[in-house]
Amino acid sequence: MNSNTSVLVVEDEPEILELISTLLRLENLDVMTASSGEEGLRAFFQRRPDLAILDIGLPGMSGIDLCGRIREVSEMPVIFLSAFGDEADRVKGLRMGADDYMVKPFGADELKARVAAVLRRAAMPAVGEDRSDFTDGEVLIDHGAHTVVVRGEPVSLTPLEYRMLSVLSGHRGQVLSQDRLLDLVWGADAMEAAPESVRLCVSHLRSKIEANPRRPKLVETVRGFGYRYAAAA
Ligand code: CA
Repeated sequence: MNSNTSVLVVEDEPEILELISTLLRLENLDVMTASSGEEGLRAFFQRRPDLAILDIGLPGMSGIDLCGRIREVSEMPVIFLSAFGDEADRVKGLRMGADDYMVKPFGADELKARVAAVLRRAAMPAVGEDRSDFTDGEVLIDHGAHTVVVRGEPVSLTPLEYRMLSVLSGHRGQVLSQDRLLDLVWGADAMEAAPESVRLCVSHLRSKIEANPRRPKLVETVRGFGYRYAAAA
């Protein structure tokens, strides 16, 4: 991995913090550490890392709260660590906009694979980058600049949300199944993506582009089949 890539690791258990830092430094990453959410937030604002690995169970500000603060200003990739690994925690983490999730204890290979996958995804050129701009009167996607404007307002999307929107709008009027979306949006990482990832990504996307996310008009659910970007009226 590239040594210009910096990773923020926030974990209150010193042995685990040390272990993760050592493993990531062996991968040539520039590692900064913090042992509380507050310290992690300061480090984030000072150094603007490329990736954050956040323990959920921290004293004071939790990893989930920290992720929420980071998400107010940044779409950088976030991986959560949890001691529990129960489904509720995992879903809460993904709902907060985390890109991935690891349950402690995890092995060195798993850590390396997940970090590499998240960084690869963040660097992946968006689907159809060479395409001309997309517009349907409500949504304008500038594929060269990677910017999205909805009803005249610029919208900030994570790399995954951007890929999801690009894929859906690129297949306008066509129904895409969850499996097809996993393949098209997650690409080589489709196998590792959690089954609820498509639904959560669509739901995040709707909250950012739909006038009323509860009654989506742009990204429609086709019950039993998948999702469809609305055809022109
Ligand atoms: Ca902890």
